[in-house]
Amino acid sequence: MSFRVKTILGIAFIEIVMLVALTFSAMSFLSESNEKQLLQRANSTADMFAHAAKDAMISTDIATIDDLVKEFMTIEDIAYITVTRGDKELSSMGSESLMAREAPEDYTLDSVSDGIFDTRRQIYDSNNNYGSINMGFEISEINSMLTNAQKSIIGIASIEVILVAIFSFFLGTYLTKSLVKLIEAANTISQQGPGFQINDDSKDELGEVARAFDDMSRKLERNYRDLKGARSEAEQANESKSRFLASMSHEIRTPMNGVLGILNILEESKLTPEQKKLVNTATESGEFLLSIINDILDFTRMDSNTLRLEHKPFEFRRCVETVVESFLPTAEARSLSLSCTIDSQVPSHVYGDENRIKQVLHNLIGNAIKFTKDGSIAVQIESPSTDNGYADITCKIIDTGVGISRNAMDYLFEEFTMADQTYSRSHEGSGLGLAICKRLCELMDGHIKVESTPSIGSTFSFCVRLELADMHIGMTEKPSNNAELKVSDVSILVAEDNKANQLVIQEMFNRLNLNVDIAENGQHVLEMVEQYHYDLIFMDISMPKLDGMETCKMIRKNSDTSVSQVPIIALTAHSLTGDKETFLDAGMDDYLSKPVRLSQLIEKINLFLTYVSSEGPTKQHQIEASFNTDNNSVETGTQDEHVDLELVDETILEQMIEDTSADVLPMLIDHYLEESQERLKKIYQAIDEKDKNTLEFESHTLGSSALALGNRILSNLARKIEHLCIDNQEEQAFQLKEELTELAEKSLAALAYRKKQGFIEPAG
Ligand code: ADP
Repeated sequence: MSFRVKTILGIAFIEIVMLVALTFSAMSFLSESNEKQLLQRANSTADMFAHAAKDAMISTDIATIDDLVKEFMTIEDIAYITVTRGDKELSSMGSESLMAREAPEDYTLDSVSDGIFDTRRQIYDSNNNYGSINMGFEISEINSMLTNAQKSIIGIASIEVILVAIFSFFLGTYLTKSLVKLIEAANTISQQGPGFQINDDSKDELGEVARAFDDMSRKLERNYRDLKGARSEAEQANESKSRFLASMSHEIRTPMNGVLGILNILEESKLTPEQKKLVNTATESGEFLLSIINDILDFTRMDSNTLRLEHKPFEFRRCVETVVESFLPTAEARSLSLSCTIDSQVPSHVYGDENRIKQVLHNLIGNAIKFTKDGSIAVQIESPSTDNGYADITCKIIDTGVGISRNAMDYLFEEFTMADQTYSRSHEGSGLGLAICKRLCELMDGHIKVESTPSIGSTFSFCVRLELADMHIGMTEKPSNNAELKVSDVSILVAEDNKANQLVIQEMFNRLNLNVDIAENGQHVLEMVEQYHYDLIFMDISMPKLDGMETCKMIRKNSDTSVSQVPIIALTAHSLTGDKETFLDAGMDDYLSKPVRLSQLIEKINLFLTYVSSEGPTKQHQIEASFNTDNNSVETGTQDEHVDLELVDETILEQMIEDTSADVLPMLIDHYLEESQERLKKIYQAIDEKDKNTLEFESHTLGSSALALGNRILSNLARKIEHLCIDNQEEQAFQLKEELTELAEKSLAALAYRKKQGFIEPAG
């Protein structure tokens, strides 16, 4: 209830109570005084009559009594008079009905029930009773006067109540006006910030409050302005810090790419043991420097909340094993036992950010090895619960190392922390690792903790919550373990402006016996693709004149499909999560982070060019056929007339066999073929009904399952449709129905045919 309403109601309530009390007391006073008057009049009249009639009563002078009765009856308000002796009536006058009544004598007005106040007088002396006089007085007039008086009092009281209500309304409004102003001012300040002024110059207390408020608002405005200035300065400083870090990392990464690349080539060449050792040390130092840059970059991104995790299917058990295996040589070299137990309940396939899980594991196992002189490191993975398609996975890294003091444990997960300065100083580290692990675990809906006893050892355990994935969904992006080039005679263009990197890349391709053309910048790339045919382009992102992204977009727009559909792989030092999506959106097919390793180059070339090679089944330019199935498909003569094995990427199948087995692959293919038929039906229906959302969803799913089972070209088309939908160009996507129908039919048939040919496990 507002203050104004309370004021009005309060005043009105007090006023009504007072008025009611006043009305009652006035009414009772009026009625009491009237009663008193009536009694007085009745008694004095009766006494007067008795006195006048006494002698006539003693002498039984009826005529005199009659005269007296007549005379008294003229007095106003007397309703009747009877004079009796015993049962005998000596004289009477007035209303017969009133005289006939049995009426007891009245002493107060309250006892009057019939409107007549009855009174009696006896005429007697010490010896005789000479009779009695009964008189009746009308009281209706008094009653009506009282009623009228009551009405007038209530009327006056009501008018007063209304007047009081109006008065209290104005009073309440006046009193609350200043308060309302204060409230409005406070609201304005909370919405628009301080500075608003009430400007009330009334001299009362409320005016003083308003002036104090104005004063406070002015001071707050000043402080607020200062704070805003300070904040924007801090933001600018922070932004410059991030920009500085990003560009510094780029600047460091690019030459590091050159240094590590050259070291990589040197490593492979003939060296004396001494030189080999120096090269190894240089490589290790370079890699360590890169890892620190990565840590700092990760940390800045976490600090600005711009770190995004990937959500992709991957093999969890394998991910753990890979990390543990990578530490085996170091553990062995330090005579430490390194074991890994993965509980049978731990799911093998989950969705999540594989690299980030690896990063956490890498950090913790790395620390455990770093801080353990002798004894063991045990990695234990458990999954205590799975529900609603999610698994909670706990990873423990238990070491028998130096341990951590109670004191240090409290701030261990804070950035730039090194628990034991003396020990840590002798071990390289940025002190950011655990802080990053903590944030990563939290981003994965989990947490990290440590238990440790100095000189006994430490147990770091972290828990993450990951969505379970189907066993066969899109697991193709793993690097090939087998770094053997499967193609020859392919033409590759590398766009790279940095001379050292050009040299490294050229050396790497020489080593692979592949010819490569180098373009200095994006402009140069565009000229070269017009002149020569390339099967694959590796494209640096930051280049003078025209950067990699723009160049890629322009190539994709080229009217010649042999140019516009050439696979392009981004080469960049911007190894930030989320960048990959930006590159893919620009039309790139894949991404490699610098410094590029030979094995990664081989992997990508194998992945994209297996069929371009003359050693491949038949065709030179598989990519040309990719989106142009109308006439460019070359069918292998020996095969079924309608089967085009170009549409099946053998590398992916090999990878699948490596990941699963040659025995289960036919079953996986059957499952995929069956599911894809259903999915295609949904896609065609979505196109017919112009249902963009379903089309986007179904083509996404088709894209990933087709890629998983080797229908790479079909996957590309599905992805293209998906991206058109995402970019709101669904009309263009709808037009691809015919192309998709034909390509899907051929791709599924080719895979079914390939399945019939059978699969064998790779040697070794
Ligand atoms: P750094 O990159 O320096 O290793 P971390 O954040 O990973 O940074 O670790 C911070 C500090 O925590 C280390 O310097 C070390 O003092 C302590 N620490 C981490 N792991 C262990 C461990 N397993 N045993 C003993 N001390 C550890």
